[in-house]
Amino acid sequence: MGKRGPKSGEGQRRGGRGSVHGDNTHRNRTPHNADDAWRLALVAKPGRQPRWQMIAPGTPDPANAIIMADSTDAHHYRVRSLPKGAILANQERQNGGAYEPPKPAYVDIHYTCIKCQGPGLFSAKAQKFWYEDLGKTLESGAVRCQDCRRKWRHQRAANTQLGDALRAYEAEPSAQTALHVAQLTVNAGPMMGAKARSRALGLARVAEKGGLDATALIATLCESRDAVDQ
Ligand SMILES: [Zn+2]
Repeated sequence: MGKRGPKSGEGQRRGGRGSVHGDNTHRNRTPHNADDAWRLALVAKPGRQPRWQMIAPGTPDPANAIIMADSTDAHHYRVRSLPKGAILANQERQNGGAYEPPKPAYVDIHYTCIKCQGPGLFSAKAQKFWYEDLGKTLESGAVRCQDCRRKWRHQRAANTQLGDALRAYEAEPSAQTALHVAQLTVNAGPMMGAKARSRALGLARVAEKGGLDATALIATLCESRDAVDQ
């Protein structure tokens, strides 16, 4: 946290030198370059995603910055200019990360999905919802595309359900609880590995022995096992 704040000593030193040398000190700086303040810049390098960078007091604005914000205190930044399509952030609602500076605004982020290498878009609007309404930490971001994220959520939900069903079966082994595990495994589809499917087949047979109708389940599980064997 300490890294983020303005270093008061440096700011004072720069300010002092500026007053000694007068106007010369400011010749090469943009009119907006506050000498004594930490700033945030959204910097876009060619072929790279724009990233927020902290600019130390006395350092000029980066030439390729598309948005600049001045520090009002250690954790808050006043936006100086907004690029097209950007949405102003409410920094009070952000859940600060230890390594990420607060975001004064959101801009569309295009990225490559880590799963399928397809194109992903983390829109400015989606970021505002993610960081302010859902309260996700500023260090989190989008890594999977929407399609892969949906599959991932589906898989996570299926795993949770299956885990619950397995615990229920272990706590109380019965035809009913065995059938439930087998059913959830089949519902989860191809995401379940061969081991899970062979366990489900065994449990479906337990259910059948217990008097429940598991014929269709057993047929499906045998089919998928045979498909894997080939
Ligand atoms: Zn993907």
